[in-house]
Amino acid sequence: MNFSPALLTLAQNAEAKCTPQFAKADQIAEVNTFRVLAAFRQNNISESHLLGTTGYGYGDRGRDALDAVYAHVFGAEDALVRHNFVSGTHSLLTALFAVLRPGDVMLSVTGKPYDTLEEGIGIRGTNVGSLKEFGVGYRQIDLLADGAPDLPAIQAALQSDPHIKLVYLQRSRGYSLRPSLDIDAIGRVTAAAKAVSPHVVVMVDNCYGELVETREPCHVGVDLVAGSLIKNPGGGIAQTGGYIAGKKHLIEQCAFRLTCPGMGKEVGATLHELRPMYMGLFFAPTVVAAAVKTAVFAAALLEDMGLAVSPKWDAPRSDIIETIFLESDARMIAFCKGIQSGSPIDAHVSPEPWDMPGYDAPVIMAAGAFTMGASIELSADAPLRPPYAAWMQGGLTYPAGKYGVMCAAAAIASESHLS
Ligand SMILES: *Cc1c(COP(=O)(O)O)cnc(C)c1O
Repeated sequence: MNFSPALLTLAQNAEAKCTPQFAKADQIAEVNTFRVLAAFRQNNISESHLLGTTGYGYGDRGRDALDAVYAHVFGAEDALVRHNFVSGTHSLLTALFAVLRPGDVMLSVTGKPYDTLEEGIGIRGTNVGSLKEFGVGYRQIDLLADGAPDLPAIQAALQSDPHIKLVYLQRSRGYSLRPSLDIDAIGRVTAAAKAVSPHVVVMVDNCYGELVETREPCHVGVDLVAGSLIKNPGGGIAQTGGYIAGKKHLIEQCAFRLTCPGMGKEVGATLHELRPMYMGLFFAPTVVAAAVKTAVFAAALLEDMGLAVSPKWDAPRSDIIETIFLESDARMIAFCKGIQSGSPIDAHVSPEPWDMPGYDAPVIMAAGAFTMGASIELSADAPLRPPYAAWMQGGLTYPAGKYGVMCAAAAIASESHLS
C-alpha cells in the first residue's frame, strides 16, 4: 500500500501516543478472558457441548451449558443465547414483550431508544403489533446536557407513576451524539431507581458495550441485558443470533416469549451454531480490545489531521463506537470508501449513498465483513446531512483495523486536496 510519508509519520505518532490506552484495553481483555475461561471450566465444557441438536432440540446440553456460560460472564443468574434471535432488536423486543403486560409503562431514561426499536415500542408506525397496541405505555426522560442520566427526574417519575414496570437504559451512544454510559453510571441509575421502586425491572440495551469494561450491567444490579451476537459477544465468529441475560424468573418469561408459553428453554434445536457461539465468546474479549484500539487509533490520527472526533483518544470508553465529524458530504463519502477499500471482503467494491428506510437523508455505509452486517467487524455509517458525522466501529484484529483507518485517512486527505 502506498501511504504517503506524511500519513505514515502521522500514524506512527498517533500510535505512540495511544500506548497507555492500548495497554488498558489489553488489561481489560485479560480480565474478561479469565472470566470467560472460568465460565467454561465451571460448566465442564467439552467437545460434545459444541455439536448441536436437530428437531425440537429436547435435552440439548450444549444449549443449556452455553446459557450458563453467558450467565457467568455477564454476572447474571441465567441467560438465553440463541442463533434464532435474528438481531439485537429481536433480543431487546423479546425481553420487553416478555416482561411488560397491558397497563404497564416502560420508562426510557437515556432519551429515545435506538431507532430500530421505535416500531416495537409504538413510537412510530401503526398496526404492527407494538407494545403500545397491546396497552403498554411509554415514557421517556432525556439525558442532561452533559450526557448524564437525570436521577431526580427518574425518581420523581417512579414515585408519581405506579404503572412504571420497567426502567430502560441504553449503554452505548448508538448512532447519536450522546456519550456512552459507563458501568458505574448504570449502577447509580439502578440504585436510584430501586431506592424508590424496589420491584421495578431495570433493563439495559447492552449492544456495542459488552466486554469493553471489566464488569457488565448485571454486576451492578441490573435485572436484564440484551444484545446481538454479530456485535461484541459473538467475537466475529458467531454467524447470527442474540442473547438476553439476567434474573432467572425474567429469563424464563423471555424464553416463553421466544418459543411458547410453557415450553420456554426446553426446546429449540441448535443445529450447527453452538460451536461458533462458544468460540465467538472465547475470542470476544480480545476482539473487543482490537475494536477499542482501532477506535482509539482513529480518534488520535484523525484529530491530528484536524478533524473533530468523539470520544477523544484518551477518554474512558464503555462502547466500541467512534464518531468522526467530517465537515462535508464529499469527505464522508471519501471516508467510507476508504474504510471499505481497507476491508478483507469486498475491498474492490465502492459504496454509494442510498435512501435507506427510516432515515431522512441518504446514508453511505462501509461494511467489508465476513458476516453480513456484522459491526464487530470494521464498518462505518454516515448519513449525508449536518453535522456530517460518520460512526465507525469494529475491527477483528488491531493491525487490520489500523489499516482500514489509514486507508480512510488517505482517502480524506486526497479528497481535501482536490476540493
Ligand atoms: C445495533 C444496536 C441495536 C439493534 O441491534 P440490531 O442487531 O441492529 O437489530 C440496538 N441498540 C443499539 C445501541 C445498537 O447499537
